[in-house]
Amino acid sequence: MTRPVPAFVVTGPSGAGKGTMVEALLARIPRLRLAVSATTRAMRPGEENGVHYWFVSDEEFDRRLRERDFLEYHVFPWGQRSGTLLTELERIASHGSVPLLELELNGSLEVKRRLPEVVTIFVDAPIEELERRLRGRATESSGEIEERVALAHEQRALAPEFDYVVANDDRDRAAAEVVGIVETALAANAAQVG
Ligand code: 5GP
Repeated sequence: MTRPVPAFVVTGPSGAGKGTMVEALLARIPRLRLAVSATTRAMRPGEENGVHYWFVSDEEFDRRLRERDFLEYHVFPWGQRSGTLLTELERIASHGSVPLLELELNGSLEVKRRLPEVVTIFVDAPIEELERRLRGRATESSGEIEERVALAHEQRALAPEFDYVVANDDRDRAAAEVVGIVETALAANAAQVG
């Protein structure tokens, strides 16, 4: 029997730069495919349905919950819900690709509990830098930003729960480190399967 191909989870405080790490991974490791989450939040400028998220109504999210379509999901303090669809993981694996998930921390811990073979990477950034990035992005209201920064402080304490912690001090350096982690894990997995 072959070992299951692992999935990778990139996690970290909101605004720590997970998205940039995910972009670097997708650009540099062709076997990786982003598992597109379902979310109830509104689409932001530049986002596309089916590419960044599946944008669904609350009713549709409830229906998918009842049908047990989620590997995990998270309810954010400001009300939105986002969850990993099992069908996404199946679709990606069926093409011989490896799923890449970008999740907040609770969802990442839940994935690790349910699928211990996944590799989890925590992207960390200085909190001041994080706040500056969130304000620069200006897609959230100031109340939402305060909540996200408070959450980041709490979430940072969870870093030791993850397989790897990468400091996003310098974007290119951090991206190279994350790419190295994934390439090494994929090579180790191939060696075990082979
Ligand atoms: P945003 O709404 O700004 O795109 O994402 C907010 C947070 O939700 C980010 O930390 C992102 O990684 C996380 N996220 C996106 N999709 C999912 C998901 O399916 N499950 C969980 N647990 N978190 C998600």
